[in-house]
Amino acid sequence: MESVIPLGEARDHVLARCVGSAPIGVPVADARGLVLAEVVDSPEHVPSFANTAMDGFAVRAADTVGAPVVLVVVGTVAAGVDPVAEGIEVGPGDAVRIMTGAPMPPGSDAVVIVERTEASPDGVTVEVGIEVSEGNHVRTPGEDLVAGDRVFEVGTVLSPGHLGVLASIGISSVVVHRRLRVGVLSTGDELSEGPYPLAPGQIRDANRPSLLALLDELGVKALDLGRVADDEAAIEAALVDAVARCDAVLTSGGVSMGDFDYVKVVLDRIGDMRWMQVAIKPAKPLAFGLVDGVPVFGLPGNPVSSMVSFELFARPALRAMAGHVDLDRRRVRATVVGEPADGGLRRRSDGRVHFARVVVDVVDGRFRVRSAGGQGSHQLTAMAAADGLAVLPDGDGVPVGGEVEVLLLS
Ligand code: AMP
Ligand code: MG
Repeated sequence: MESVIPLGEARDHVLARCVGSAPIGVPVADARGLVLAEVVDSPEHVPSFANTAMDGFAVRAADTVGAPVVLVVVGTVAAGVDPVAEGIEVGPGDAVRIMTGAPMPPGSDAVVIVERTEASPDGVTVEVGIEVSEGNHVRTPGEDLVAGDRVFEVGTVLSPGHLGVLASIGISSVVVHRRLRVGVLSTGDELSEGPYPLAPGQIRDANRPSLLALLDELGVKALDLGRVADDEAAIEAALVDAVARCDAVLTSGGVSMGDFDYVKVVLDRIGDMRWMQVAIKPAKPLAFGLVDGVPVFGLPGNPVSSMVSFELFARPALRAMAGHVDLDRRRVRATVVGEPADGGLRRRSDGRVHFARVVVDVVDGRFRVRSAGGQGSHQLTAMAAADGLAVLPDGDGVPVGGEVEVLLLS
């Protein structure tokens, strides 16, 4: 007699055994997508000095009262130039030609954009066409960050923008949760790959490419561990090698009730494994275990099942290991659409929660879903077309016009 457990129990079991990896320092250049394990405070002001936001003339705002006015051009300051070192100053009645990002010269307190000025042909004077107030187009020190400010909290996922900020305050390495290395192994005597004709009974390995790509999307380093036959010794050797090299391992196949489903047998022997029958469809069987402390996810072999099992168990667990606070895909409520004759998202009552592959769109701010195609666990094309998994509780499904909860896949 099999005992079937609720999804929440299986998920809790897995998550309780997948903890955040130890923090390490990494160069900022390698940190995109990683999660901060330490706060970052700014060691300095950004900008660190008053500078101009526009090309034009640095002036004393008081000198522009009653514009148009003519001022004497006493110098030029380009970005990167120190006007103090150059002895450039703006006295009463003076103007300094200035380029975006250049420091404000001593004495100046405003910038007139070049478009509102007219320099004399010899460049000795400039006519300023508008009155400006103090601070006009001036970026003041600390306008973006003040020295000592908390810049990023623990748990921040480092985006390209974050890396730019770190660079802007001179921080070249950060303490983060390491980028995980996760191996993917396919099991099954029937598996082949590539363009060669299939021998009778063979199928091509679809799981490895999709699981490797899911890992890549997750921002972890995915390791292709190849295929292994339905052979206990070969599976054991492959797993022992995998856990020595990886932070986590995904296998597919060999965890069901069949005579040659050896993944669960091997995991049970060499690791601390729990073989679960989860009250969901697809992806009922899951063998999850720790081998030498490394989480191994024995995902089911059917291609849709392996991807759904990844979504429901491996993805949140790997995110937890990578230090993420937010583990799950976004869930939304959607209206089921389609021809009434299609019947909407139908199912039969079987005591399990079904995850239907659906295409999601948004009309007038409302999410809508329709079936993405054949819902068999071997029908990978509907998974490819899907951008959501509709959660169908036990019962007979949701008709066209009904409401359903959807896990968004992107
Ligand atoms: P299993 O979980 O090993 O009993 O496999 C369940 C079903 O999934 C069988 O029809 C297998 O042929 C199929 N299957 C297993 N592994 C793969 C794979 N890597 N790619 C495509 N189909 C697979
Ligand atoms: Mg198999």
